[in-house]
Amino acid sequence: MDCVFCKIVEREIPARVVHEDEHVLVFQDIRPQAPTHLLIVTRRHVGSLADLEDPLLGGALLLAARKVAREAGLEKGWRLIANVGAHGGQEVDHLHLHVLGGRPLGRMLPSASS
Ligand code: AMP
Repeated sequence: MDCVFCKIVEREIPARVVHEDEHVLVFQDIRPQAPTHLLIVTRRHVGSLADLEDPLLGGALLLAARKVAREAGLEKGWRLIANVGAHGGQEVDHLHLHVLGGRPLGRMLPSASS
C-alpha cells in the first residue's frame, strides 16, 4: 500500500518522532501551521476516524494527544483536529490527529457562516 504514514511508521521515510507506543507514533508535521504541530498516527493502517472501530485505539489516540501536548509545554492550551474525508480536508488517508499550539489559535473555523 502506498501510504506515506505507513512508511513513516515502518521507518521507510524519515520523520521527527517525539513519542511512540504500541498503538501510535507521534511526529512533527512537515508543514507546521503553528509553533507546535504534531501528528498522532495509528501504527495500524485505518483510513480515517470514520473507519475507527477499536475503542482501545481511540483511547490511545486521545491519551497520546494529552501526553505530547503536556510534554510540548502547551499549558496555555492547544487544539486537536481530525480531518475526515473530502469535506473535512483530509489529505492523507491514514487515521491521524493534529495537535496544534504555541500561539493563540483563534476561531475554530475562518468564518462562522454555515
Ligand atoms: P490531513 O489534511 O489531516 O490529512 O493532514 C495531513 C498532514 O500530513 C498535513 O498537515 C501534512 O503537512 C502532513 N504530512 C504529509 N506528509 C508528511 C510527512 N512526510 N511528514 C510529516 N508530515 C507530513
